[in-house]
Amino acid sequence: MKTLQAVRGMHDILPDDSAAWQWLESILKTQFEAYGYEEIRTPLVEQTELFTKAMGQSTDVIEKEMYALQARGDAHLSLRPEGTAGVVRAVLQHGLLNPPGLKAWYCGPMFRYERPQKGRQRQFYQAGLEAFGIEGPSIDAELIALISRIWRALGIDRHVVLEINSLGDRADRAQYRETLLDYLTPLRDQLDEDSQRRLDLNPLRIFDSKNATTQAIMLDAPKLSDALGPSARTHFEQLCGCLDALDINYTINPGLVRGLDYYGRTVFEWKTEQLGAQGTICAGGRYDELIEMQGGRATPGIGLAMGMERLLELIRDQQQGGFKTSPDAYLVSALAAEHTLAIAERLRTDGPALRLIADLQGGSFKAQFKRADRSAARWALVLGDDELEQGTITVKDLRGNAEQLTLNLNQAAEWLEQNRPG
Ligand code: ATP
Ligand code: MG
Repeated sequence: MKTLQAVRGMHDILPDDSAAWQWLESILKTQFEAYGYEEIRTPLVEQTELFTKAMGQSTDVIEKEMYALQARGDAHLSLRPEGTAGVVRAVLQHGLLNPPGLKAWYCGPMFRYERPQKGRQRQFYQAGLEAFGIEGPSIDAELIALISRIWRALGIDRHVVLEINSLGDRADRAQYRETLLDYLTPLRDQLDEDSQRRLDLNPLRIFDSKNATTQAIMLDAPKLSDALGPSARTHFEQLCGCLDALDINYTINPGLVRGLDYYGRTVFEWKTEQLGAQGTICAGGRYDELIEMQGGRATPGIGLAMGMERLLELIRDQQQGGFKTSPDAYLVSALAAEHTLAIAERLRTDGPALRLIADLQGGSFKAQFKRADRSAARWALVLGDDELEQGTITVKDLRGNAEQLTLNLNQAAEWLEQNRPG
């Protein structure tokens, strides 16, 4: 019989890979919490309307990438394509913004119906941060400093660059839209099909086009940065000042507009050249109007999300293996199951941090030692009738040439803890 396969674009994270995931997740969690962010977990499914309202009708995600669900009686549900909309829904639903001032982090799977390729999956993980209630650019700068610190902790800081831009305020964008339309309308026929459609819906988004001709046209377009009003301009200049003071390198990319409607003022992306076409590993920006749009009291907000798979691929390129922790010991036994289990449990009670595998498949010593070897454990613990009678355990070195020794059972856990690998 043919076995079933995972859904296209959705991947298993197998035991051999999970050590790297756990390592990455623990570094992120440590750094997020060091800056005062607390974890939030929201459902994978929300009302479709939440996403369409937040992200905007003319965005890639809403136009083509949504996973709508057909569940009994529950019309209009979708798998979440990103984290921010659900987090905003949750903090409003539970009144967490009175008084305003909340910092939350999340990590979990997102779903987008995209063409699967390197760096692009249909289920992928994002880790993200959201900070509510701070209007000034200091939070923008702190968020960027936090992410820079994470790149250093992961050992990839030399391989990523930061791009920033300001999208201005709503009125700035409205005015700029007209300027851009004046420039683009005569060139309409030269734009790619998607961009022609966006010309009417949301011309700003044309900066996102991957089409070479369109990109060339956009390079000469009037700049949004020249259309910023005084308060958005000051916000951006102060942000740059903070980044300079913190010694954080960045380039201003006037064509950086981000793919979602809820952004305004500061937007940023970290990119790498090591991953080919899908080189953005982290992106975000301000969404000062989103909370009001979702029915809350006007509250400033800023957030970002990083693509975990892309990040892991970049880390793996830099770091050769080394994420897995091997077991301390592998218990090989000729005794009846009740004795083997009782002794294994005894060792685990005495040494709560021990990583101990008991061979429960049984068979000859030879077969058990083969498995002990494959487990990558540092030591083999051997139990036979003599050991049972004398209350001892025999220790054999599986990785080096230490001499075999016999330990009193009540001292074995302590000895193993003192002789851990690495
Ligand atoms: P792109 O331009 O690559 O489609 P995006 O603007 O749609 O990116 P965001 O919505 O900003 O991406 O998501 C933040 C991060 O999540 C991205 O920078 C990327 O690292 C990751 N990401 C987005 N979509 C996918 C996907 N389909 N597969 C894997 N990672 C993804
Ligand atoms: Mg996308």
